[in-house]
Amino acid sequence: MVTLKSHVCGRWHEAGASFATLVNPSTEAEVARASSEGIDYDAVLAYARERGGPALRELTFAARGELLKAISKLLREHREELLALSRLNSGTTESDGAFDIDGATGTLHYYAGLGKSLGDARMLTEGDVIPLSKTDAFAAQHVLVPRQGVAVHINAFNFPAWGFAEKLACAILGGMPVITKPATATALVTARCVELIVEAGILPEGALQFICGSTGDLLDRLGAQDVVAFTGSADTARTLRAKPSLIAACTRFNVEADSLNAAVLGDGIVDGPVFDLFIRDVVREIRQKAGQKCTAVRRIVVPAAVIDRVKEALGGKLDRTVVGDPAEAGVTMGPLATAQQLDDALRGIAELKRSARIVYGTGERVDGVGSPAGKGYFIAPTLLRADDAFAATAVHEREVFGPVATLLPYDGSAVQAAEIVALANGTLVTSLYSDDAAWIASFVQNGGSSTGRVYVGSSESAPEAPGSGVVFPAALHGGPGRAGGGEELGGLLGVRLYMQRVAVEGSRALLAGLAAGAQAGLRQHAQ
Ligand code: NAP
Repeated sequence: MVTLKSHVCGRWHEAGASFATLVNPSTEAEVARASSEGIDYDAVLAYARERGGPALRELTFAARGELLKAISKLLREHREELLALSRLNSGTTESDGAFDIDGATGTLHYYAGLGKSLGDARMLTEGDVIPLSKTDAFAAQHVLVPRQGVAVHINAFNFPAWGFAEKLACAILGGMPVITKPATATALVTARCVELIVEAGILPEGALQFICGSTGDLLDRLGAQDVVAFTGSADTARTLRAKPSLIAACTRFNVEADSLNAAVLGDGIVDGPVFDLFIRDVVREIRQKAGQKCTAVRRIVVPAAVIDRVKEALGGKLDRTVVGDPAEAGVTMGPLATAQQLDDALRGIAELKRSARIVYGTGERVDGVGSPAGKGYFIAPTLLRADDAFAATAVHEREVFGPVATLLPYDGSAVQAAEIVALANGTLVTSLYSDDAAWIASFVQNGGSSTGRVYVGSSESAPEAPGSGVVFPAALHGGPGRAGGGEELGGLLGVRLYMQRVAVEGSRALLAGLAAGAQAGLRQHAQ
């Protein structure tokens, strides 16, 4: 069996004990083992702070962008190999694996371009010079400079390539060295990405270290200049952000967590391009990555008058799902990633059944096509329905991380749709399907504060609408409340996490000199 190694202090670290086993979720065959036992985290932090940080800060934005461009190209060249590892360790179909891996290379490529556009600067000005006196003698300019610490990245199991790459891109462009940790259960893809980057010698020494397994006491050793970017469950986020050492040091902590995303069908839509797009998108969101996406649709909010029609249309498309081992031809949906995920999804469905009833599928484990009977963590698409959206408490509280969603009726008004969406206490994305600009504006006005992103599917956008699950690097990813309250991507918004804002006060002439050496990045790109 393959033993995965960490890469710390410029060398590979192989643990001697405390191994976790990684499996193929379609067959339950063991594929690798991982442990980080024996890593000296003081040395890891010193290596990043003393070698990686200064080396990155020395580079201009354009030069850092070049590093990202090289990584993007390298991973693209190994796309097929990474897809195979994704299938082996995450049970992804070709398109589900590509969603992760192409998302990673695309995001790196985007940030490479952003670096190029920022040119030879090493800091950013934010906004215009602000007058502070009647003359030009005294004014202020907000400036962003790299934090002189370490960026610790902790990622969820479901995006081992994209999660790794999107955080890496923002931190490297911001000038901070990275210590990255994938979820252990699906670490194979990230481990290979890091191995490729190390072998190619793209990054300066100390700019990227890789922990494969537990982070030990790393988080207890962080300080005021460091940043933690966490993606995972709301429960783990709560535990980690409450660490006394992080609170005492005021370590910056960004969280991307769970989300009970909603798709809302506008009033009076019973057929036509918007209805078809709604059905197509919701089916994709249920099936893609077997529903293991933080952005997947969990709540399907539709006018009460069309709920039966919507259920029939969704069922008709879901009928075509072939659940099984993605290595088998014809399979369109793979398994959940681990035994624990399957167990959690089954328990979650039982909880949803307290508020809703199953109207499609069984909500039980099934055997998968091409997999040995009784083996593999398969669950078929399942739809539930509640008749009173406001009373369906579990539907707004329990994230079932699988191909499972619940139909909820509403009265067709944007105000009531916003109230229902808000019951989940903060989501990453809400998708609206309507051509009615006033209805959409009313939803954004009333419900925008409870979600990080609003995706609008309309007749006009239908030909190019990618589905609400696609996270573009140029647009904000993150959401309030339960979704973590964090902000990632969004162009320079995501880079800002790794930089410190300083208000520099002085004469306008002096500030003009300062601004000339910086880049007015945030005014141009992300205000
Ligand atoms: P998880 O169990 O919370 O684990 C997330 C990460 O935290 C893993 O790398 C895990 O490492 C690590 N971790 C757990 N306990 C830790 C500790 N005490 N100290 C340091 N690290 C610790 O979540 P998951 O099951 O991997 O991911 C699924 C969840 O992520 C879902 O709820 C999903 O909604 C959410 N998610 C959110 C986003 C987003 O962008 N908002 C994206 C993807 C997923 P080990 O694996 O080694 O335990």
